[in-house]
Amino acid sequence: MTRALLGCIADDFTGATDLANNLVRAGMRVVQAMGVPTAPLDAEADAIVVALKSRTIPKDGAIAQSLAALQWLQAQGAEQIYFKYCSTFDSTAEGNIGPVTDALMQALGTDFTIATPAFPDNKRTVFKGYLFVGDVLLNESGMQNHPLTPMADPNLVRVLQAQTESRVGLIDHSVVAQGEAAIRARIAQLQAEGVRMAVVDAVSNADLLRLGPALKGMPLVTAGSGVAIGLPGNFGVAPSNEAARLPAAQGLQAIVSGSCSVATNQQVMDFIKAGQPALAIDPLRIAAGVDVAAEALAWAEGHIGQGTVLVYSTAEPSAVRAIQGQLGSDKAGAMVEETIAAIARGLVQRGVRQLIVAGGETSGACVQALGITQMRIGAQIDPGVPWCHAVAPDAADGLHITLKSGNFGSTDFFTKAFAQLQA
Ligand code: ADP
Repeated sequence: MTRALLGCIADDFTGATDLANNLVRAGMRVVQAMGVPTAPLDAEADAIVVALKSRTIPKDGAIAQSLAALQWLQAQGAEQIYFKYCSTFDSTAEGNIGPVTDALMQALGTDFTIATPAFPDNKRTVFKGYLFVGDVLLNESGMQNHPLTPMADPNLVRVLQAQTESRVGLIDHSVVAQGEAAIRARIAQLQAEGVRMAVVDAVSNADLLRLGPALKGMPLVTAGSGVAIGLPGNFGVAPSNEAARLPAAQGLQAIVSGSCSVATNQQVMDFIKAGQPALAIDPLRIAAGVDVAAEALAWAEGHIGQGTVLVYSTAEPSAVRAIQGQLGSDKAGAMVEETIAAIARGLVQRGVRQLIVAGGETSGACVQALGITQMRIGAQIDPGVPWCHAVAPDAADGLHITLKSGNFGSTDFFTKAFAQLQA
């Protein structure tokens, strides 16, 4: 095993893949682990991303999980630690960004770090410490109504200061625009004033690439996934296609979809319109006790030898509301996730080695059912969605898998993704 250069701790699952994707594009070979592994990494990687589910849990749990991830990453030789949170700085009333950052700083024995969710590729920019989503401030973006992490204040210095005893400061755009030396000078000035965490302005990738060199040697960086584009250069790593290289694709192809987002509805329609075999599963039949997974697998066996098959619960909002009205949204969600995960596993047992999973929660359920504990990150299919490669109990020879969260991907994603894999 080579020594991992960058050790990353992500506070949710799809956010971890988003970060991994940016690191691969910047030239690093990346492995993503689901939760804190119990054994050393058995793959070569320049960066490791440990995916936690710590964003909205009570802060003590988030701290404990993050410290466990830190310890494991240090044991893998990580030279710099990257705490990754959402590009909309999603925080609960307790944090958890501030408390986790404090705990990591203490464990690392460091007294300064940065904090910036800026991700210009995804229209998240920070100016004068204020976070913009597209053309509007964070608190006008819809995030003020988020069910778990409502964001009512767009000023990140204030938001972070409310989560920590550490003093929070700002490295504003006039400094970032001047580049590494000016940023380092500002950091020294802030440290002299007793500031321990600095929000950093960035409105473009050029800003992030200017910031990167100034972060060389900083034990802890905290950020969204954007800052990642400027870090690999500090380790002498340059963008290359090599980083995204996965083993050659083999086996059968399938798609399972439990996402009801607008983009996924279009992708399912596009696949069906192209005349490809697709089977809809009905949540009410699952609720009635029918073994829908077994039925779907029997159907798939008849088609899978000839090409890609799709099994989906994807439905328009009105249909989803009707089901939720009858079953309750939690129960409907959990039942459908469990069924789709069983189908995904059955498909892999039947020889599928190229699998698309659509839906964030659905992906979590499928990865768990497949017993996947780590994935190597490959080339991006669409922004934020890379192909990955994993070994699983039912696929000891390895499996290509991509986890597409709801609104990601172009309309022809389901055909494009497989075409890219064969190229
Ligand atoms: P997305 O990434 O699009 O938000 P998720 O998988 O995260 O997709 O969430 C979709 C949720 O909706 C899951 O809990 C899934 O089980 C549930 N679901 C899927 N299909 C249906 C349906 N037809 N009716 C009700 N709920 C559904």
